Amino acid sequence: MVTQKTTLLIIGGGPGGYVAAIRAAQLGIATTLVEGAQLGGTCLNIGCIPSKALIHAADAYHHAHHCMGDHTLGIHVDGARIDVAQTVRWKDGIVARLTGGVGALMKKHGVQVIKGWAHMVDGKTVDVDLGRGDAEPTRIQCEHLLLASGSVELGLPGMPFGGKVISSKQALSPDHIPKKLVVVGAGYIGLELGTVYRKLGSEVTLVEAQERILPLYDEELTKPVAASLRKLGVQVLLGCKVQGLDEATQGVRILDSGAKESVLEADQVLVAIGRVPHTHGWGLEKLMLEMQGRAIKVDDQCHTSMRNVWAIGDLTGEPMLAHRAMAQGELVAEVIAGQRRRFAPAAIAAVCYTDPEVVTAGLGPQEAAKAGLDCIHAQFPFAANGRAMTLESTDGFVRVVARRDNHLIVGWQAVGAGVSELAAAFGQSLEMGACLEDVAGTIHAHPTLGEAVQEAALRALGHALHI
Ligand code: FAD
Ligand code: NAD
Repeated sequence: MVTQKTTLLIIGGGPGGYVAAIRAAQLGIATTLVEGAQLGGTCLNIGCIPSKALIHAADAYHHAHHCMGDHTLGIHVDGARIDVAQTVRWKDGIVARLTGGVGALMKKHGVQVIKGWAHMVDGKTVDVDLGRGDAEPTRIQCEHLLLASGSVELGLPGMPFGGKVISSKQALSPDHIPKKLVVVGAGYIGLELGTVYRKLGSEVTLVEAQERILPLYDEELTKPVAASLRKLGVQVLLGCKVQGLDEATQGVRILDSGAKESVLEADQVLVAIGRVPHTHGWGLEKLMLEMQGRAIKVDDQCHTSMRNVWAIGDLTGEPMLAHRAMAQGELVAEVIAGQRRRFAPAAIAAVCYTDPEVVTAGLGPQEAAKAGLDCIHAQFPFAANGRAMTLESTDGFVRVVARRDNHLIVGWQAVGAGVSELAAAFGQSLEMGACLEDVAGTIHAHPTLGEAVQEAALRALGHALHI
């Protein structure tokens, strides 16, 4: 058996693993990264980037269609048609550029990348199947083992993936646009991709078990999204559970909250009911690590319960977001290099790329109250923002939450077109411990959506200018 030795061995080349590799190499740590599929992980290949590419393409197509019937802007479009194969090629081109870029970064930093599936032997030894039909796997021994194997999609019992039942992975590479699409789950993926397919021409029905869409977000934030879905003609069935496929019609059997059963016609069914840490099928159980539910339990330095075994990203549970995985990856490399670091962010912003977009960072009013904080909050509507009017997108608002006693800002929320870009300002203000007066006293460029951020702070202080 071929045996190699390294200081840091990383399992998984997603945003957690590849960022850890870059930072470790920068700090002079000999690093090997094992990836069974493609560098870039879920995020670059079948997650964040391809979904945002399709959202953009669907928006462009939708706008062209809109201009066929609505000439408010003075734009007349005589016809619009989509070549889905070309759209997917364009999306794949972006993915290839980014994953190629990660490969180049690995090379530049001297990270050894091994393409193959890792299998745990013990906390310091991993076998890698290089998939070349070799009689024996390559064995790698390390001082530090970093687990970054990500997450996998949850399936519905009784309705396994296959045939007309698809996951987000297949939905991101369509070979045609189904006439009738049923989407199970109105969370991040269901809403982002359900909206894409509606804009590309499918009749979309969203089936959500809870009583409202995006149940993790506060209701006021999701109202403009629900209104937009109605306007787009997406049917939303709340409080409904999917029972399986109807044998006779191959439609989707659902049970509503009144225990009434019905069948929805569907050419395709996208199941988007959540993701779970990828802990099975690669011998991880041999390490007998302490778990937290289905995730690997880690402390605030991403240590697992075994010495010199670390875990980051989706494998460690919620929030399963790429930027959290990256931040943890960077931290682990620095801790291994001897730096004093703790993972204690003031906030991890979350964005849902619906139409309109939703962004949150820190605490909402109810969360602040639950945490025992006496807070004030104020919101500024985009209906009073000039830039929003020029973008024809006046739905939504920016909200700030701050402590009543010292005005320390503890949270930001926004819903509206393009608000994902406000995540940077929100994150910075929380991380830097800004007070309402800091944001209110900062000159914000005009005309920008960001002026609504300043106005929300001014409003919380009782003297908003434009409302
Ligand atoms: P992953 O990106 O899942 O990477 C893990 C890697 O490990 C994979 O490449 C896998 O092949 C490899 N691997 C696993 N086991 C082994 C093994 N035994 N041997 C070798 N290799 C192995 N997050 C956001 O922040 N913003 C978004 O807009 C967003 N959009 C998303 C859209 C979709 C459709 C999906 C599915 C997810 C989205 N996410 C988004 C979530 C984001 O993709 C994940 O949070 C992020 O990719 C997690 O990074 P990670 O490094 O922990 O794991
Ligand atoms: P999710 O947790 O966001 O949403 C799942 C939804 O399915 C929930 O609303 C839940 O109530 C519903 N549900 C669960 N079981 C159901 C059932 N049997 N019938 C009907 N509804 C049911 O999960 P997701 O949309 O699959 O996304 C997975 C993860 O990927 C997210 O949690 C997030 O971490 C990540 N993601 C992030 C982004 C982003 O940051 N913009 C985008 C996509 C995915």
